[in-house]
Amino acid sequence: MARVNCYELMKKASEKGCAVPAFNIDNLESAIAVCEVMRELNTPVIVQTIPRTLNYGGRSVYSAMISALMSGCDTDYAIHLDHGSSAELALECINNGYSSVMFDGSSLPFDENVRLTREVTEMALPKGVSVEGELGTIGGREEGDSDLEASYTKVSEAVDFVAATNVSTLAIGVGTAHGIYKGVPKINIERIREIHAAIETPLVLHGASGLSDEVLRACIRAGISKINFATELRQAYTEGIKKGFELFPKEFDPKIYMRTAIDSIKEVLVSKIRVCTGL
Ligand SMILES: [Zn+2]
Repeated sequence: MARVNCYELMKKASEKGCAVPAFNIDNLESAIAVCEVMRELNTPVIVQTIPRTLNYGGRSVYSAMISALMSGCDTDYAIHLDHGSSAELALECINNGYSSVMFDGSSLPFDENVRLTREVTEMALPKGVSVEGELGTIGGREEGDSDLEASYTKVSEAVDFVAATNVSTLAIGVGTAHGIYKGVPKINIERIREIHAAIETPLVLHGASGLSDEVLRACIRAGISKINFATELRQAYTEGIKKGFELFPKEFDPKIYMRTAIDSIKEVLVSKIRVCTGL
């Protein structure tokens, strides 16, 4: 077993023209799905949790669960705090074994985002933990291009932000949104290229559920080296449970119908790994 930080995985992937898929897990079943796929394909991935997940399952649970599920497997992986909300939570995750943390100050004024992100990098980097910052807006915005331009990360701000915070990796706003897209998303591939040319910091794409494989590949070619997937995994899980109930209508042992749900998540994981790594 080799738990490494996100920066190391992303650097290696980008040298090969690939990206590292980052999968949000919610519970034991989604953790089993990710760990089984890692073992079967022997591909490095990032396993991540948002603060709401930590509050749902218990803050010390996820890191320990992944360690146990990965025991004896030597595939490199990272466990990452996604959309971390404070330096305190980042530190707690690090103490629980997280190899990477995000501080999301993207909704704050630029200077405040810099100040708080810097607190996290100063605390985490000396421990060998990589830090993801965020700049720009990753929406709930769907159609309506009128304020799309304002949501994109500006190249000059990315340069200043990285220099001021020393973040290991940077999440950027290029037209993606979390959750489900209502219209056809318009992704600013050119902006990814411009930011990638201006800074050496590896770039992260959030809100990738619902983007076509073709768009994802274009984002990787333009310079994205970590892609986050959450919504599509939750949808696959929920559909899998429904299918399990249909297949086994009399069954009351969750281990039976949850197996159908795990397999349903695994199908999505494998397809996303193929897109990110070109397998
Ligand atoms: Zn996100």
